[in-house]
Amino acid sequence: MTVPVVTRFAPSPTGLLHTGHAFSALFTYESARRSEGPFILRIEDLDFTRCRPEFETAIEEDLGWLGITWELPVRRQSDHLSDFAAAADSLQQQGLLYPCFCTRKDIQQEINAAGGAPHGPDGPVYPGTCKHLSPAERDDRIAAGQSFALRLNLEKAIRITGSDLPWRDLAKGWQTARPEIFGDIVLIRKDIGSSYHLAVVHDDALQGVTRVTRGMDLFSATHIQRVLQSLLVLPTPEYHHHQLICDNNGKRLAKRDNAESLRSIRDRGITAQELRAKLFADMPYK
Ligand code: GLU
Repeated sequence: MTVPVVTRFAPSPTGLLHTGHAFSALFTYESARRSEGPFILRIEDLDFTRCRPEFETAIEEDLGWLGITWELPVRRQSDHLSDFAAAADSLQQQGLLYPCFCTRKDIQQEINAAGGAPHGPDGPVYPGTCKHLSPAERDDRIAAGQSFALRLNLEKAIRITGSDLPWRDLAKGWQTARPEIFGDIVLIRKDIGSSYHLAVVHDDALQGVTRVTRGMDLFSATHIQRVLQSLLVLPTPEYHHHQLICDNNGKRLAKRDNAESLRSIRDRGITAQELRAKLFADMPYK
């Protein structure tokens, strides 16, 4: 008997979906269909500076056109900010977060002065400036109204979780988490009061996701998400990172490079069946 796999597609409504998203959604749908499991659509709209309701509507239109159906109600992350605050609170209680007052410019200056910093998946690894502030200094700066983000004290986190957390990718096999490539990442952003990594592990667990299917561009994100699962005592799903759709120059399709939208493809008279057949002919499900 096949155990139903619970999968999700979790787009951010920051623009119109393109064929890269279509492949990801169809890949996820195929994953669910093969085990007769549910397909969850989750709207990851925490970054309110970039997300727009009309793009959320367009996501539903595009998925409907692709022939995908999803569970209701759809979870919209911006409706659940208090959940993420509670998760952050649990890390705070364990003494795992510290306030960081640095601006991007401060960080760059510190890195320049130190002669460089390793480059992680989300940018340069934080040099740890605010980690060394005394409690009195922190209190003074907070009392003075300086804005701050909360960063994970990774050294402390690893002391709790150990350094050999396993996770499994269906295409690439067993992995050992390497959170050090991220360093002390921001878990609570100044502007949005949460972060992608924190929200995603929280919601995957809450929604009972047993298989995370997403593009290979997020493979390395799993290294830090695995640590957060351990710290928040959440289950670890299995992962299936798929190949990425590239343009004619071999570059990954991106909204910011004006990749052609599904809406425009549809307007050109291409059917969803034709698109699906082309995508899976180029990159078979595996
Ligand atoms: N919301 C993320 C994005 O649109 C995807 C998150 C995930 O699948 O883990 O890139």
